[in-house]
Amino acid sequence: MSEQRIALVTGANKGIGFAAAEGLARHGTTVVVAARAHDKGKIAAERIGGRPVVLDVTDAASVRAAARTVEEWYGRLDVLVNNAGISGGRAGQGVGDAAEDVLRQVFETNLFGVVRVTEAFLPLLRRSADARIVNVSSGTGSLGWMTDPAHYFARMPGVLGYPVSKTALNMLTVQYAKSLGPDGITVNAIAPGPCGTDFATALGMELPRTAAEGAAIIVKLATQAERPTAGFHDDNGPVPW
Ligand code: NDP
Repeated sequence: MSEQRIALVTGANKGIGFAAAEGLARHGTTVVVAARAHDKGKIAAERIGGRPVVLDVTDAASVRAAARTVEEWYGRLDVLVNNAGISGGRAGQGVGDAAEDVLRQVFETNLFGVVRVTEAFLPLLRRSADARIVNVSSGTGSLGWMTDPAHYFARMPGVLGYPVSKTALNMLTVQYAKSLGPDGITVNAIAPGPCGTDFATALGMELPRTAAEGAAIIVKLATQAERPTAGFHDDNGPVPW
């Protein structure tokens, strides 16, 4: 087995996922760049000296195949970053405009995708002496912030799918953390803050942070000596659930 830490980041071909992969590689971690499009993953992996694997979080066969590949390559996994996510766009997510197929698509990626990937890689994570799972959530998934009149999130229009999927992801994080604690596997959720990635551009939003700034908390949780678990974190510390 390799002595170097092995990490896999989903949706690592661009945006926050790519920045997290790049940051981890800089820390000397061997990074598996998981992307649903083979060519995009290959280009991204070449940029950071990582290794590409095809992984579509909504496709169980592709997730299982990626887990088999990582097992053949390294025999274990130390860090899993569940980053792949979609906003689902605006249409079909508003109150009075809710379209079940849109909401299902968002949950399929942002929630069930995380379950699918986590379950597939658990056997490999259990072989690590220091296994960590980082789930990329969102401040919009924080019930605390969304209901705090002093927080600007509380004044956002009531979009249904995306923030609800991230709140569900937060509870998923807690449940995995409780179950995997005895095995020494830590599980945390993070909020990257508002980053000007393609995700934001597609929604017509200009957001102030860079992808690297958003990814910093992922890299920190994956590499720091402290091993908190069952938390929701951003750059400033704990985020209210
Ligand atoms: P981007 O749109 O730039 O990147 C999203 C990544 O997810 C892409 O690599 C994309 O692949 C991948 N992806 C989407 N669907 C799938 C799928 N089915 N299987 C595998 N990969 C998939 O967005 P960000 O980098 O901004 O977002 C990354 C994460 O950060 C998301 O979970 C998002 O919810 C979260 N986030 C982002 C914020 C922001 O302000 N940007 C704020 C809060 C949270 P492809 O290129 O093939 O589409």
